Order: sequence, then structure tokens, then C-alpha cells
Amino acid sequence: MVCMMVEIDTSELRGKWFKCIDGCGLCCLCQPELLPLELKDFRGNPGLAGVVVRSDGDPARKSIAMLKNGGPCVMLKERKCTIYRERPHFCRQFPVHTHLMWRIQLTPDYSCRGIWREDWGDGKDGFVDLEKYGLDELHRYSGEKLEVELKDANEVFEEFRRNSIDNGVWREAGELRSKTASLIGDGFFSDLDGLGSILLAVQHAREDELDVFDILRATGKGQNRRESLNAMRELSEELLTVSRIEENPIYVDGSLNWNVYNLVNGKIWKRRLLDRGGLSNISQVELDISDISVSAEGERALTAYSIKSNSRDAFMGFVCYLVDDADYDIDLLSTYLENMAMTQLDLVMRSAIVQPERRRSIGREQVAEGVVYIDMDMHDAPTIGSVI
Ligand code: SF4
Ligand code: SF4
Repeated sequence: MVCMMVEIDTSELRGKWFKCIDGCGLCCLCQPELLPLELKDFRGNPGLAGVVVRSDGDPARKSIAMLKNGGPCVMLKERKCTIYRERPHFCRQFPVHTHLMWRIQLTPDYSCRGIWREDWGDGKDGFVDLEKYGLDELHRYSGEKLEVELKDANEVFEEFRRNSIDNGVWREAGELRSKTASLIGDGFFSDLDGLGSILLAVQHAREDELDVFDILRATGKGQNRRESLNAMRELSEELLTVSRIEENPIYVDGSLNWNVYNLVNGKIWKRRLLDRGGLSNISQVELDISDISVSAEGERALTAYSIKSNSRDAFMGFVCYLVDDADYDIDLLSTYLENMAMTQLDLVMRSAIVQPERRRSIGREQVAEGVVYIDMDMHDAPTIGSVI
């Protein structure tokens, strides 16, 4: 049973539908961690004991092995899970993510093309209700372990809160979200001038110890597209220059190819991750970031994504993580607005990278593909709180 005293927020799942797409396998490119009971079952099964390895990044945890060279989980054959009925909770809950902090929040991962979206889909036949799906899996997982994880996550958040108050950088989540929502309403998060204005205001606020929101309210949106283009250039270098294959963000396209994008000798290459692991070059991507602009439809799609980020506890937890990591030298409000802006710019850039032939003006469809490319990374970002 899920602890009934705690709030469970499923609002982002409501009205969404889901059906896994045969031959996709995108979520099988993430290393699946095993819960203690699952580990016991795997170790007790002679056919499966050999696939258990230490998790990447956390040697105390155990996972199913991945193919070498950036390949998928070893249990995936011809893009089908060979242990589908016994697959672990980690796999079962996808495309729902569960974040624990002061409450439990379930959110959809829009990198999964199996999610039916009211604005994109054309029918509900054979789809499952995503809110029910997420809650059912949470109930399967719940019990003592969930209570312990929730208590731990709560304690970490409370410690962060105390440290933030002591260092004078604290803002309540409600205040962060409502101030951001008012800037979203004024279009700051959907065009390059607005996003550039936020980055400049954050810089100004930090240098002169002013309130970033007051600055933005006083100055409004300026002609600050150049600031956004510079930030996108830096973001693109970070995204496209990754040393290990398995650390590359993957974009699954409409034909279910697993694509990665890399900078090689100063040129962007579209490469394909092979089912057996390893990459093959597909084509060079002609993209000049200075050419990027966003259409009115694209701006509406960007606004929609900013509203989602602003409601996600995992995003809030990511910003808290950054403040903690900076030893509380940066404040919560400026860091929150800065990272909202950077997320939007990352989305614009990815929307242009995956469909460069239509890059002149990024529209709704391109932003939608950018969301497919970015959303898994947003869910995977470090966070104060925990993800189960
Ligand atoms: S990403 Fe979605 S559609 Fe693709 S395999 Fe996973 S659950 Fe299925
Ligand atoms: S256990 Fe199955 S569902 Fe989970 S990652 Fe491996 S192949 Fe995919």
C-alpha cells in the first residue's frame, strides 16, 4: 500500500494514454536497476544470475548488464524484451517517472513515442490510461521500501531547505512557480529575445545582488536574441561532444532508429546506435545556430513545455541540487529562472538539430521532436529528492 498521508501528484499524467510501440526499445538503452527482491529472483534463476552486474554510477546497486559499446540491455533481442513478464520495476514503470521529495510526483516521459497525446494522437484504441498505469505500478512497488525512500528524500530536502534559509537563498516552491508562471504568461520562455533577457537579468542580479524578478518586471523583454544564440552554441558543444558512447543522449525518430549527434572535426554528424552496440555515421548535419528562429506555432509549443518543466518536482530538485553544489553561493530564484531558460534553449537547439532541413523557422512539429530528444535527459538530471 502507498502511504496515504503523503500527497501523490499525478496531474501531468491525467488525460494521457500509452501503448508501447513494437520495435522501439528506446527505454532498453537505460541500465535497468533491480530492487532487492528482484535481485533475489534473478540470482536464484540459473538462466538469469549471469546478467546481474554492478550499476553504472552506483556500485552499491545491482542492474541487468548492458551490451558493450553503448548497446542496449542484454535481455533485448530483436528489439523485444526476452523476460517481458518478469522485467523489473525500473522497466515496468516506463514511461512514467516517480520522484520523491516533500511528496510523490508521477510524470510522463515524452521521449517515449508510445504516449498518446491529445494534441498529436488520432485515437485511444488499445492504449492504457497513463495515470492508472503509473499508480498501479507505484502500488506494486510500495510498502516498507517506499516509506523508507520517501522518508530519506524528505530528510534530504529538509536539510537543503535549512541550509538555503541559513544562507539567505531560500524561496518556497509555490513562489518560484508562480513568478515563473507569470513570466511564461508574458512570453519570456518562448522566444529567443525573452530567453536572452532572462539570462542577462540573472547575470545582472548576481553581480549587483538584486532580485532577478524585479529586474525583469522593470525592463521587460529586450532585443536579446544574441545572448540566446551564444548560450545555444555553448549548449551544443556540451551536447555533441561526449567521450563515451553510452553517455550520448539518444533521439528515437519516427522510424524507430536510435540516433545520436556528435561533433567530429568541427562538423555535426548524425550517427546511428546499432542494436549490437557501436555507432555508424549516417550523414553530416548542416546547421548554423545563428539561422535559428521560431514560428508563432513553435512559440506556443515552447510555452507548453515550459509549463511542464515549471510543474515538475524533478526540475525543482535539479535546481536545488545546483544551488547545493554551488555551496549556496547562488540563490534559488535566479538559478530556477536561469535553468528554465537554458532548458528552453536546449529544446530549441535540439529541435533544430533533429530536423535541420526545416530549421529556418522552428514550428510545432519540430518542437515536438525536440521534446522526444530532450525529455529523457530532463528526467535523468541529478536531483535533490530521489527517483524510483
Ligand atoms: S520508449 Fe516507450 S514505446 Fe519505446 S520501448 Fe519504451 S515504452 Fe515502448
Ligand atoms: S529487462 Fe527487458 S524491458 Fe527491461 S531494459 Fe532489459 S530488455 Fe528492456
